[in-house]
Amino acid sequence: MKHNNFEFDTYFKNYPDKDGFFGKYGGSYITEDLKKAMDEITEAYFTICKSSRFIGELRRIRKEFQGRPTPISYLERLSKSLGNVQLYVKREDLNHTGAHKLNHCMGEALLAKYMGKKKVIAETGAGQHGVALATAAAYFGLECDIYMGAVDIKKQAPNVARMKILGANVVEVTDGLATLKEAVDAAFAAYSRDYKDSIYCIGSVVGPHPFPMMVRDFQSVVGIEAREQFLEMTGELPDAVVACVGGGSNAMGMFSGFLNDPVDIYGIEPLGRGTALGDHAASLKYGTEGVMHGFNSIMLKDENGEPAPVYSVASGLDYPSSGPEHAFLHDLGRVKYDVINDDETIDAFFSLSRMEGIIPAIESAHAVAYGIKLAKQMGRGSVLINLSGRGDKDMDYIIEKYGIR
Ligand SMILES: *Cc1c(COP(=O)(O)O)cnc(C)c1O
Repeated sequence: MKHNNFEFDTYFKNYPDKDGFFGKYGGSYITEDLKKAMDEITEAYFTICKSSRFIGELRRIRKEFQGRPTPISYLERLSKSLGNVQLYVKREDLNHTGAHKLNHCMGEALLAKYMGKKKVIAETGAGQHGVALATAAAYFGLECDIYMGAVDIKKQAPNVARMKILGANVVEVTDGLATLKEAVDAAFAAYSRDYKDSIYCIGSVVGPHPFPMMVRDFQSVVGIEAREQFLEMTGELPDAVVACVGGGSNAMGMFSGFLNDPVDIYGIEPLGRGTALGDHAASLKYGTEGVMHGFNSIMLKDENGEPAPVYSVASGLDYPSSGPEHAFLHDLGRVKYDVINDDETIDAFFSLSRMEGIIPAIESAHAVAYGIKLAKQMGRGSVLINLSGRGDKDMDYIIEKYGIR
């Protein structure tokens, strides 16, 4: 069907195009060496991942190892407290390891196995992607090198321990500020040296082609399941769908199930402490077009045009850009991108915990907060929220910073 005069019937056939572009966004702005490696992955993706053997194996793994399909839960007490809008959550917190990231990591690692690679390489900031990839590597018997800034290693001790227990090699990066940006550079450099035996596994719908497409496709299981489940539960489609956007993988997974439907779609970015540069990570709302980490998108820049420092209470959302497909859907007007600040997020974190018995990841609490806001505005109808992960990882921080409410 058409939205704003743009035809979505053939959307997945046409986007991205063969060079990885969603309109003017995406592509691959990388060195020739890396380009060769990425072309190999693209080729393998279209031959291997589209084969019935691969699809069959991934389906079995999702069911028997990950625990998919994850359910949809109706938030009865929270909905009633807000009026006549029905709120539902897609329970990616119940996916093995407690978040959606394992969906694309299992796909990427299975591809690595089919390609005969021995090792998976990635960077991690807060450690969530590292843990998901280390899990996938352990399952498939692959080596796993996770590059992580020294500062982040100190901050994220439980995730570092999880990665090590799972058998991953955590490589400490001490260059520059020793955080995510330096870890990305170090991981890419290691991959350029070693791409014959290894594969780089990006943690969201970002980076050079084919990753925004590949990660979206692996995550689309979330939206496909959710659409079927919602129809079965209620006989209708939801009026609105909501997901938080960092790099944008959980959101693209959910949204891809509903792009061609008469459903309003909302991507929620973190407004953090406020609108000043450095106090938030709302790149689609406040950013401009630009290239970073090998792809063209909408990004937050400092005065030199470099990726700006960003902040959010949710470490999984503090990235100065978003996937190119989000930039495209933003410009098309198909998805409305809006913001939720730290305080609204923490309120929603406690509301969902107290009224429904579900402790959300702080990232996911941004989407819950927006669902609550929408419920108050809409008056009636239904909202489906992607609960991208569980909040166990955030509990110590919340209690230390905000106390028990
Ligand atoms: C990493 C993470 C996110 C943000 O990543 P996206 O690619 O934007 O989905 C959101 N929620 C949880 C629980 C995460 O771990």
